[in-house]
Amino acid sequence: MNKQLIEQELQQIINSDHVLVDELLKNHTYTKLGGKADFFVTPATIEEVQQVIRYAKNNNVPFTLLGNGSNVIVRDGGIRGIVLSLKKFNAIKRDGNSVIAESGARIIDASRFALEEHLTGLEFACGIPGTVGGALYMNAGAYGGEIKDCLDHALVVNMEGDVQRVEAKDFDLAYRTSNIAEKGYIVLEATFRLQEEDYHAIKAEMDDLTFKRESKQPLEYPSCGSVFKRPPGYFAGKLIQDSELQGKGVGGAEVSKKHAGFIINKTNATATDYIAVIEMVQKAVKERFGVDLEREVRILGED
Ligand SMILES: Cc1cc2nc3c(=O)[nH]c(=O)nc-3n(C[C@H](O)[C@H](O)[C@H](O)COP(=O)(O)OP(=O)(O)OC[C@H]3O[C@@H](n4cnc5c(N)ncnc54)[C@H](O)[C@@H]3O)c2cc1C
Repeated sequence: MNKQLIEQELQQIINSDHVLVDELLKNHTYTKLGGKADFFVTPATIEEVQQVIRYAKNNNVPFTLLGNGSNVIVRDGGIRGIVLSLKKFNAIKRDGNSVIAESGARIIDASRFALEEHLTGLEFACGIPGTVGGALYMNAGAYGGEIKDCLDHALVVNMEGDVQRVEAKDFDLAYRTSNIAEKGYIVLEATFRLQEEDYHAIKAEMDDLTFKRESKQPLEYPSCGSVFKRPPGYFAGKLIQDSELQGKGVGGAEVSKKHAGFIINKTNATATDYIAVIEMVQKAVKERFGVDLEREVRILGED
């Protein structure tokens, strides 16, 4: 891979201010972990997104999509090739009783926008720190609600670089999963079908969920939220707690004492420390309870 050539070519196809070279990804992830991206690209128009995808495909340049980095761990060696961020796509608007949010908008902001418009259905998302695109990819959910319950359809760019409308049912949304990776979609915007409701009722629900979240989660430390999916018939946090792992760690990363399902970057952890804690937890829970903990969080990049 000729980095200089790729840089020049990328700057020819999209605005050169939208291409950063050797960008440190720890500045773009919630865990504050991760080495450099060769190219951190932030297109501002759909045409620029299409150009970048077609360029990556035609030139065999590796390509990774990053939202708010709240459900990924980037390894210390960083990510080769292009890391695409849609953070400039962040508009949110109302159309009838629907909220249409661009993929780089925070789902928290979509939830607050719905509140201001007296629309119910997105309260569950008021504390989820991802983007709309990341929330759709993960079918993010909390406290009994999930994206699947309120998504109507989305606009995506497919791997050929064409814009396409996809109905909610065609994303195969299920517990913390979708078919977006398999289909190679890049979500551009999502339309949520909501209902009118009294402002104070929506606000009361959001305040209640915020209180629950703040009292139970170690939000004062960098983390990626719940590291593991809920194993059928169990709660990951309870298994970890009962394995007496809270407060145990490797380097600067440790299992949170406040919420056993969280691993926190307590003191300048590396991604290697963080991943070692994940593996320590999986091993201990398997030995003690015979349960395999499957990661919810994705690990990207190289050592
Ligand atoms: C403190 C904390 C609390 C959390 N609480 C919850 C919770 O209650 N419920 C919950 O479900 N999750 C929770 N999470 C996890 C996380 O916020 C969600 O999974 C969120 O949906 C991830 O969005 P993101 O934009 O950060 O995605 P990223 O972590 O950046 O990426 C996740 C995946 O989404 C893909 N992706 C991102 N944008 C797009 C796009 N536009 N098109 C296609 N694919 C895309 C990426 O390629 C990647 O594979 C929490 C995390 C933290 C740190």
